[in-house]
Amino acid sequence: MRKIVFLDRDGVISKYYPGDWSKKWEEFSFLPKAKESLKRLTKANYRIVVISNQAGVSKGLFSLKNLRYITKRMKEEVKKSGGKIKKVYYCPHQDEDNCSCRKPKVGLFRKAEKDLGGFNFEKTFFVGDSEVDILAGKNIGTKTILVLSGKTKSREETKGWQKQPDYIATDLFSASEIILNSRVSSEPRHCERGPSPVIATRCVS
Ligand SMILES: [Mg+2]
Ligand SMILES: [Zn+2]
Repeated sequence: MRKIVFLDRDGVISKYYPGDWSKKWEEFSFLPKAKESLKRLTKANYRIVVISNQAGVSKGLFSLKNLRYITKRMKEEVKKSGGKIKKVYYCPHQDEDNCSCRKPKVGLFRKAEKDLGGFNFEKTFFVGDSEVDILAGKNIGTKTILVLSGKTKSREETKGWQKQPDYIATDLFSASEIILNSRVSSEPRHCERGPSPVIATRCVS
């Protein structure tokens, strides 16, 4: 089983603007340690897939062309720092468009499954910064990690949410520690397991 990890974009990889979006590349900024985290996941053989709602397109705030350009530059920057984003899936719609891809719906995950296959959602993590992300993860059946580097700022805010995340982490870097140390993630064979589940596996392959 090949390893895969799903990540939300804004508030996880890049800066979250409350009620707004990175409308052009100049407005996009990587969160601290985000590129380093992506590099670590890449080096650990995770295929990184971004699943992101970008309703600003449907609202006419920026074009698909802009979004594609942002994606291109984001991937280039990540590559320069030693990481690799395998795929990026966006929902450009807003609620009233009634699409099947806007999180918490699972259309984008299904698309990734169709394109990439060979993984098990139950053994996969989805990292997001909002209640909608956690719901989406639960709807498709992944493990969920809420990061506090975007829309949600504290654990307290999750009280009253429809679903609770499986883990809460300060940012993508801490989330990547959870992922890399997890026994849930599909392990390659010939791994030496550490003395406790939170100790990283050491592989001899
Ligand atoms: Mg987000
Ligand atoms: Zn959509």
